[in-house]
Amino acid sequence: MHPCAFLSRRLSSAERNYDIGNRELLAVKVALEEWRHWLEGAEHPFIVWTDHKNLEYIRNAKRLNARQARWRLFFDRFSFTLSYRPGSKNVKPDALSRRFDPAPVAKEPEPLLPLTCVVGAVSWQIESEVRQANGGVLTPSGCPRNRLFVPPNLRSRVIHWAHASLLSCHPGVRRTMHAISRRFWWPCMEQEVREYVSACSVCARNKSSTGRRMGLLQPLPIPSRPWAEVSMDFVTGLPLSRGHNTVLTVVDRFSKMVRFIALPRLPSARATADIFLNQIVRYHGFPKDIVSDRGPQFVSRFWREFCRLIGAKASLTSGYHPESNGQTERLNQQLETGLRCLVSQNPSTWSRHLVWVEYAHNTLPTSATGFSPFKCVFGYEPPLFAALESEVSVPSVHALVHRCRRIWAAARQVLERQQDRVKTAADRRRRPAPDYRPGQKVWLSAKNLNLHVPSRKLAPRFVGPFPITKVINPAAVRLRLPRSLRVHPTFHVSNIKPVVDSSLVPPAEPPPPPRMVGGGPVYTVRKILAVRKRGRGRQFLVDWEGYGPEERQWIPERFIVDRSLLTDFFRSGAPGPSGVGP
Ligand SMILES: [Zn+2]
Repeated sequence: MHPCAFLSRRLSSAERNYDIGNRELLAVKVALEEWRHWLEGAEHPFIVWTDHKNLEYIRNAKRLNARQARWRLFFDRFSFTLSYRPGSKNVKPDALSRRFDPAPVAKEPEPLLPLTCVVGAVSWQIESEVRQANGGVLTPSGCPRNRLFVPPNLRSRVIHWAHASLLSCHPGVRRTMHAISRRFWWPCMEQEVREYVSACSVCARNKSSTGRRMGLLQPLPIPSRPWAEVSMDFVTGLPLSRGHNTVLTVVDRFSKMVRFIALPRLPSARATADIFLNQIVRYHGFPKDIVSDRGPQFVSRFWREFCRLIGAKASLTSGYHPESNGQTERLNQQLETGLRCLVSQNPSTWSRHLVWVEYAHNTLPTSATGFSPFKCVFGYEPPLFAALESEVSVPSVHALVHRCRRIWAAARQVLERQQDRVKTAADRRRRPAPDYRPGQKVWLSAKNLNLHVPSRKLAPRFVGPFPITKVINPAAVRLRLPRSLRVHPTFHVSNIKPVVDSSLVPPAEPPPPPRMVGGGPVYTVRKILAVRKRGRGRQFLVDWEGYGPEERQWIPERFIVDRSLLTDFFRSGAPGPSGVGP
């Protein structure tokens, strides 16, 4: 053997990022390109010698990236075998080295013909397995003719075949039963099919549940005096009127009295506390409970500390379910509608009219109590005419206090009756949620999550499973979520459903553990989905191999080791913010 040609070249900057296995493969590809006029179509297969064990890794590669797939097409034009000699020792090479073959790509064999082409009798492997297992076993008497009795150890396989194979694509219980009962039989098969389907994680992820929504209405307790429990809300985005474009609405949950406070902008938590002291506490005393949404003012540590200091409980409505704040939210909506009507008629003067909207609401009887909020709080109606003065006057302060107490008791009764009515009506469209407990795993509806999926329609309906860390009340739980989801972890029970386990369903494969490279964990990127500018660099939205869309993350460019992912991403004409190119 003597050398007849040499070839060497520098690695390009992109190629320098290849790992050692890919560099070896690159060397082979470059050599074949250079000498292909001798090698292509050669009469005898030729041997490629190399001296690195990493070819083992290539041979066993579980899947090919796009670049490797292209190379593979190129390699197919040659007939050769690949062999290595271990480093410095010039021992005889492994004569049994096999033809280079980069391992099968897909786990599921893809059918060559579309399934609709199959019209003739098809024999399934599962059928012969059941037949084999039945050899010598007496078929129970209940088994119909023409059906195969399935012994217990094969039942899970049979259901899997009927429910999860390529042919069936996860039908519901009825159609899964239909497929099975054409050929197979065992006692209680429907029950087991039902169990299997309810525990199928593919179904759980992708099917939205039908039927009434979960979780009965959990009304807030009815307060027993005015201004003990208030709810706060901001109405934003109004046209500028005398320097104001925001309204803070504060509603007393007992009397339904409102305060509208025009503001120049959305205030900070500190400013909100200040306004609250000056506009509410000053006239109505300290409340016991302040209900709000999860606006930044109300989740801030400052606001919580403020509430603690004034002795009030800061209640936040649970994630994506404002109805739990029932009546108050509806009242807020009415007020907001009223405000917007006023604003649209007087775009530049609404802040001057605000006081009259407030006055009108507070002096007209509300459907909630039958009294006007004003009367409910102060014990008398503001007189409209001088002649009515005698009606509102009382002989003494004591008499006024008595009258107030009578009004409060009556208002409370009406509120209780009304709340019962609302709850009964609401629960007719709901069903009780299961009893959840901490540690239990649940699926989370993807409805309100930002999953970075290209098409909402085809995105999974549920993600998870995630464990419950705390059951806040029968209607709300807190979950342990991956940080990449960026969402408050408290959810109303209508947004979750329990994970069902069944011994019939094989356990789901756990996500792949990270590989350890240079002392740190490294996860495999399946695909790059998007790019954005961040500071002076770029970030890429990546989809991790073996993880669901809920784990997708923006990561800095330097974290992406395999540069071919970037090349592929930009070559595919990826949508990206303008001015961000490769
Ligand atoms: Zn399924």
